[in-house]
Amino acid sequence: MADNPGAGGGVLHVVATPIGNLDDISARAIETLRAADIIAAEDTRHSSRLLGQLGIEGARLVSLHEHNEAGRSEALLHAVAAGQRVALVSDAGTPLVSDPGFRLVQAAHAAGVRVSPVPGACAAIAALSAAGLPSDRFFFEGFLPSTAAARRARLDQLVRQRGTLIFYEAPHRVAETLADLAAVLGDGRMGALARELTKTFETVRRDTLAALRDFVAADADQQRGEIVLLVEGATDEAVAGALDETALLRALAGELPATRAAKVAAAVLGRPRRDIYQQLLDMGIADG
Ligand code: SAM
Repeated sequence: MADNPGAGGGVLHVVATPIGNLDDISARAIETLRAADIIAAEDTRHSSRLLGQLGIEGARLVSLHEHNEAGRSEALLHAVAAGQRVALVSDAGTPLVSDPGFRLVQAAHAAGVRVSPVPGACAAIAALSAAGLPSDRFFFEGFLPSTAAARRARLDQLVRQRGTLIFYEAPHRVAETLADLAAVLGDGRMGALARELTKTFETVRRDTLAALRDFVAADADQQRGEIVLLVEGATDEAVAGALDETALLRALAGELPATRAAKVAAAVLGRPRRDIYQQLLDMGIADG
């Protein structure tokens, strides 16, 4: 094997696939996948179905996911260097966007292998384009933590974030997350629910966070499928008025033992002491 996979001058293609509607695949994506010798896929069974639907055969599918990415990257880059045409796809949408691929692309750059995107669908951008919220600046958060305390702690850090916030969320957590968004970011902030984009039961609804929370809580159908949540960013007034919780916790923890800091902060912020203590743990201030 060559020591420098970049020496062969090959290209790693990062190929976006549809997020629901097969017709959203681009002509160039089809061409690139048809020409590929190797397709690195998050889930080979899933991608094999997609390739079958597109009438593409011949490429060798290899898995590339969170747990094997570091090890697989080197072999894939050597294949590129050896003249093989290698494409990276994920289960849906754009690879690396809340999907595997970052380590491979980073390794490609380190090895001098050219990386070329074949752009296409991305749920975050599709949702932003239809949500009716400011799109001049946006902040992609991806998935929030799954436990309530960690999720609220993360939202606390986003209270002052400007630009439209974009979250991915699992259907079984969407009701809970909308309740947290309204509680932490404010009932009256505008938001949007973008569900099942490009599919039969597509829903795009723009409303206040409180109204979205109630809408989703009242209709089990809105708690199914694939979901993007969007929230308008902090206004100047919100930024000026918001308490900087992280600074408060750091200041208290600098003066008091963590349990007492959590007690005082809980009283000031009106939140459970246990949640605050967990936040101190997450910030590396308290010891478990
Ligand atoms: N790489 C993908 C992209 O470019 O959007 C995202 C992959 S991430 C693992 C999957 C999440 O994306 C879902 O849980 C959901 O939040 C969002 N998503 C994917 N397809 C969607 C769709 N058709 N409608 C709404 N959200 C979608």
